[in-house]
Amino acid sequence: MPRTTPPRPTDIASLFPALRPLARPATRLHPRPGTPTVHDSSVGGPLLWPVDEPWPVCEVPHKRRTGHRIADVRREREILRRAWARNPRTGPTPDETALLATFRRGRHAPHLSDTDPLPLLAVTQLYAADVPYLPLVGDTDVLQVLWCPYERHGPRYEVNVHLRWRRSADVHDTRTPQPEPPLADRPDLVPTPCVLHPEPITEYPHWEVLPAELRSQIARRWDADTYLSDLSTAPGWKLGGHIDWRLTGPTPLHCAACEAEMRPLLTVDAREWDGGSDSWIPVEDTSHARDMGANTPTDLYAGRGQLTIAVCGRNLLHPHRLISQ
Ligand SMILES: [Zn+2]
Ligand SMILES: [Zn+2]
Repeated sequence: MPRTTPPRPTDIASLFPALRPLARPATRLHPRPGTPTVHDSSVGGPLLWPVDEPWPVCEVPHKRRTGHRIADVRREREILRRAWARNPRTGPTPDETALLATFRRGRHAPHLSDTDPLPLLAVTQLYAADVPYLPLVGDTDVLQVLWCPYERHGPRYEVNVHLRWRRSADVHDTRTPQPEPPLADRPDLVPTPCVLHPEPITEYPHWEVLPAELRSQIARRWDADTYLSDLSTAPGWKLGGHIDWRLTGPTPLHCAACEAEMRPLLTVDAREWDGGSDSWIPVEDTSHARDMGANTPTDLYAGRGQLTIAVCGRNLLHPHRLISQ
């Protein structure tokens, strides 16, 4: 089933033509729980990875012994999913609740030193054939994103994100099973497998990024909140578009290698919609938009909820940067 964003309440660019050059294409990814294969675009699905190619590892020194077992995180979600499907009123049985209580953060990998190479966790895979506006390097046609699920890297205590572009035709034998770390810092750094329903849309800059003159023109017609919630940027997982600088306000983004302006590549969002962004609920989801978990299909919550991977506008292989809002 495709996912369709309802038309915006107003075609704002026809009222304010000065907005037109500031429009950017974005692709809402619309992840929904499913069972993706290596040949699908996915969140948390298996990656198309050649059997003879080394799997990327985290070598940044940080504690690796302590965390949540990734196997427990998946089992807990499965138990809860079945329990609530079986009994929507009471959920898990006392036995299940007792079992879930044993899935705790702990020193579950005592053999790991703080510098042992730690396999990264597959987060998303995007095929150009499925996903409009996917930025590509050379003749590649797939983007794969992995991360080290500890928010302990660099001065801002971020996850350690690794981007890999590849040509799907080059992969003959796929690596299976795929490596992954034993533990995660938090359960919500482990994605629940989702299939994607990409949909191209148009976005306009965050309120504070607009030129002052244009902002005051728009302000005569709508308040900033309406512009921010309904007319500028979409919530949820997306490619491209504009950053919603809701927490920090805009900061300049320049490539550390060449000074070029950086652009959002991928936004990993904890919620596909919430009370402030109802107008973006796809028409196919309106009837069950308030169901438990409907707006949190990936179960991820990275950074402060909305994590954008920004890349150099001139060269995708220059160092990326993470923005957390
Ligand atoms: Zn790490
Ligand atoms: Zn650059």
